[in-house]
Amino acid sequence: MGLVAQARALLSFQGDLGLHGVDVPFEILTRRAPAEPPRPATDVVDMGPPTAGNEAMVQPRGSLGGIREEIGDCRRCKLSDRRTNIVFGAGYHKARLMFVGEGPGQDEDLQGEPFVGAAGKLLDKMIRAMTLERSEVYIANIVKCRPPRNRDPEPDEVAACEPFLKQQIAVVQPEVIVALGRCAAQTLLRDQTAISRLRGKWREYEGRALMPTFHPAYLLRNASEKKWVWHDLQEVMRRLGLNLPKST
Ligand code: SF4
Repeated sequence: MGLVAQARALLSFQGDLGLHGVDVPFEILTRRAPAEPPRPATDVVDMGPPTAGNEAMVQPRGSLGGIREEIGDCRRCKLSDRRTNIVFGAGYHKARLMFVGEGPGQDEDLQGEPFVGAAGKLLDKMIRAMTLERSEVYIANIVKCRPPRNRDPEPDEVAACEPFLKQQIAVVQPEVIVALGRCAAQTLLRDQTAISRLRGKWREYEGRALMPTFHPAYLLRNASEKKWVWHDLQEVMRRLGLNLPKST
């Protein structure tokens, strides 16, 4: 992200969260522009289920494309009954930061992409405020098909689908995972503690640092909680060595 764009993203996010008065990091205004973010490799692309056009393409084992190929036109759990698209995941295949939600919503089900609705737009703002681009992180869900009426995924559905998430984590090898929302945090951590108490504290999942925080969809309904998410994201930024606003 360019320097001016970084400054704008921070100011936009602060305004959106009601965090006026936080300085734009001096480093952002003065340091040289960072190198272009790495381009996602071809195996990051969600190719969709095998079709007559792509079924002959051989994906390397241990790649995101290979995992997608293994999922295929998955019928391993009942969430397949009413889905429109499998929402595999998207982003940089070697991202340092991975966001994980519980499952696709209506917009995601229709488009086959994670976090593309109103909550996705807020997630984009959160990412940009961290001086990152969506193309530099990886975004996935615990289950890859939409639960009816956006209910929580049931234990048998998590059991069927979570192994694919674990495979994605093994390929991407993020330094930090951010669990978005109560369901994602409680499910990944096998901990029924309220998200208001889980958030902001480092935990571990698959041997990797995990930060639970509120889901962007929750923030759309509870704007006053946004300040806590900004707090959690700054913890993540510290862990990743990203530049923080001066006043934090
Ligand atoms: S939620 Fe996961 S396991 Fe269930 S049908 Fe969809 S891809 Fe398969």
